[in-house]
Amino acid sequence: MKAIINIILVSVLTLGTLLITSCEKSAVEEDLIDQVQLTQDEINTLFYMYEEEKLARDVYRFSYRQYGIPIFNNISNSEQNHLEAVAYEMNRFGVQNPFDEIEGNYQNPDLRMLYEQLKDQSGESFISALLVGATIEDLDIKDLLEAKSQASDRFLTQLYENLQCGSENHLRSFMSQLQVASTSYEPQYISSELFDTILSSPHTSCGVGGR
Ligand code: MN
Ligand code: MN
Repeated sequence: MKAIINIILVSVLTLGTLLITSCEKSAVEEDLIDQVQLTQDEINTLFYMYEEEKLARDVYRFSYRQYGIPIFNNISNSEQNHLEAVAYEMNRFGVQNPFDEIEGNYQNPDLRMLYEQLKDQSGESFISALLVGATIEDLDIKDLLEAKSQASDRFLTQLYENLQCGSENHLRSFMSQLQVASTSYEPQYISSELFDTILSSPHTSCGVGGR
């Protein structure tokens, strides 16, 4: 009888160990799935989004220095969080971050050119700087939607969703200031349907990094 009890006890213990081991294993496996190798396209998109967030930060910093209006300071701080969120994901996926944080410094020649162009335009007047703000957010949302559609990993999808959520808040902020100045802006990158939907939606609290 004692032997049978012992066998049962051992079986229960073994089963328990097996269950614990299999739980641990699945957590490890899940971690490994998160360490999935990104495709070169996904890495390039991550790199592009990093520099695009940086471009937004830099143009708004410039506008804040020009006009001293809080909206540019607040939103450029938010863009700093965004580029840090992109850098965080690079690190998670074991991708070396090839960028520095120096203002106005870009590896992508198109973004370097766009930065110069938008900075010049922002320097023309406070209203021009607001219009540039709307333009940057309009472009960001289009690029983030594209990035999200080709992302294979849930962490990437979440990252792009948070950044888009932030961009929508920024777009609403710039548009409300433009409205005060009786100036209109027509979307150049996203559809007017999406533009209208965003403008009629309330300010949202976004995930970490998406403020
Ligand atoms: Mn952003
Ligand atoms: Mn933004």
